[in-house]
Amino acid sequence: MLVTEEKPVKEVLGALGADKKVFIVGCAGCPEGWETGGPAKVAALADQLRAKEKDVVGTTMIDFLCNKALVGLRLSRCLDALKAADAVLVVSCGVGVQATAAMVDRPCHPALNTISSAGFQGLWPSSERCGQCGECVLSSTGGICPITTCAKSLLNGSCGGSHEGTCEVEKHRPCGWFLIYERLKALGKLDDYKKIQAIRDHKKMDIPLKSRSTIRWALEAKQF
Ligand code: SF4
Ligand code: SF4
Repeated sequence: MLVTEEKPVKEVLGALGADKKVFIVGCAGCPEGWETGGPAKVAALADQLRAKEKDVVGTTMIDFLCNKALVGLRLSRCLDALKAADAVLVVSCGVGVQATAAMVDRPCHPALNTISSAGFQGLWPSSERCGQCGECVLSSTGGICPITTCAKSLLNGSCGGSHEGTCEVEKHRPCGWFLIYERLKALGKLDDYKKIQAIRDHKKMDIPLKSRSTIRWALEAKQF
């Protein structure tokens, strides 16, 4: 089970900025089990946004937001609400936010931080998508994770070696920061590219003691 924690509402509002119309997508997988998501949390978040004068144009729950094909299928049923939205708020791990961002042409913002995947990268195979950094920055990187797409896991890129969209570390690999630049340009959010991310606090990658003493964690950690 991917372990997540809720971002402070103030941080979520800061990420949404002037975007008023918000569509909320919630994952009914790990976050529901971990009690950082699920229908009740999504409804509460919608109320908190409305109290701050945001217009919540729709909400939906998807069983496993880390399954990109399923995300595309289910969101295709919400096209009118998505077209009306300025931004999408995603209540899931970093893999789910990236799957959503790959499927919609709206800025996608994480409502959660991902702390641990316990070795599970969700149901979007072929690549590691989330490095469980504990401080999800997908909000300002166009929904592309710099920790996993950049060969050096740079939080501020690109490095000086990027050449014509390829990475200096592996010539056949796209530069993660080039991908982020292109996505931000397509979203009209290039100002986000200039934001300087703070140095990572690696302590945030540790699962808090209070979470490690829950029944859910005991089930997760049990050795058979
Ligand atoms: S920024 Fe990347 S590594 Fe960090 S929580 Fe988000 S998806 Fe995961
Ligand atoms: S070329 Fe791009 S992906 Fe490669 S290390 Fe530099 S910034 Fe990261």
